[in-house]
Amino acid sequence: ALNCGIVGLPNVGKSTIFSALTAAPAEAANYPFCTIDPNVGIVEVPDPRLHRIAEIIHPRKVVPAAMEFVDIAGLVRGASKGEGLGNQFLAHIRQVGIIAHVVRCFEDPDVAHVSGKVDPAEDIATITTELCLADLETVEKRLARLEKQRKSHDRIQAKQAEETIPLLQRVGSRLSEGVPVRAQGIEKEELERLSDLFLLTAKKQIYVCNVDEEGIHTENDYVKAVRDIAESEGADVVVLCGKLEAEIAMLEDPEERRAFLEDAGLSEPALNVLIRAAFHTLGLRTFFTAGEKEARAWPFPEGITAQEAAGLIHTDFMKGFVRAEVYRCDDLFELGSEQKIREAGRLRLEGRDYIVQDGDVVYFRVNV
Ligand code: GDP
Repeated sequence: ALNCGIVGLPNVGKSTIFSALTAAPAEAANYPFCTIDPNVGIVEVPDPRLHRIAEIIHPRKVVPAAMEFVDIAGLVRGASKGEGLGNQFLAHIRQVGIIAHVVRCFEDPDVAHVSGKVDPAEDIATITTELCLADLETVEKRLARLEKQRKSHDRIQAKQAEETIPLLQRVGSRLSEGVPVRAQGIEKEELERLSDLFLLTAKKQIYVCNVDEEGIHTENDYVKAVRDIAESEGADVVVLCGKLEAEIAMLEDPEERRAFLEDAGLSEPALNVLIRAAFHTLGLRTFFTAGEKEARAWPFPEGITAQEAAGLIHTDFMKGFVRAEVYRCDDLFELGSEQKIREAGRLRLEGRDYIVQDGDVVYFRVNV
């Protein structure tokens, strides 16, 4: 799924961040894949390359890539046991592609902390434990089923069970120690064998440190604690001040916004960094189409072919694919026009098996 779930303990700033992310509503009509739900927001992926392309090509319309963010409140200690509305929230997490885990890294006597004091490592452990317990239950249920399947008369079924049981036992025992699946060092091939369990802790995670205004410029000890944990999992960390981001998001006038950012010492809203990190962690890259009518950024999973990319634009384009005319957006920025790209011999004709690269500008020749 092209979406990112926002999780974290109560009062860490999730809703503040979600509201800021979704303050400028993206034009839903451009993104038919998106869900209509108050907890789901369509967010445009800020990409300066698209705007540079538009400045050169002058299309009538510019359409950025978009992804969804989902506000998943309600994760508390005991959620995996179904306390509160716990289990329902876990079901929401199951449906997202990756998780942005918001951690409170600010002090504020006016904002209560669920466990009484700010302690990022402890907070992360609380959430991780709940997700591990939920996964452990999933694994145990599957193991019970496989134990039966192992005794099946169907040889193939029995063999499959025989092969999968040790893997699940190993994963389960690490989960019971509180080690999320993503941090267990499991090989890709084995992870694929686990994919139909939709394990929560197998999802990639980004840590979002919600700091006070001072914390943006000088890294506080809370953020350091989060970085240590993130590093051990190979996860990204984004530092932002939710309150400040909410204020920035309210400013509609670009000039006012620029002045505000400058005052705050930011070159762009930190939310942009978060969106790009989420986009990248989802394994997505961007190619562009650019013509008189429209310049558009297309998200694609790394490794797809030109023919598959054509299919993203229109299913008929996949069948009718003839060839792709490709150049690098950097060449456009350097040379200044498509005409010059042609003259310089930097326009390539590619066949159906060409592996599309991040930053390609593509024109698909199709026969439909
Ligand atoms: P949620 O329960 O995780 O969704 O948290 P909320 O977004 O509702 O925030 C809880 C409280 O913390 C609200 O009163 C926010 O105004 C406050 N808050 C959120 N972000 C910040 C921040 O960066 N600094 C400070 N001081 N307060 C914040």
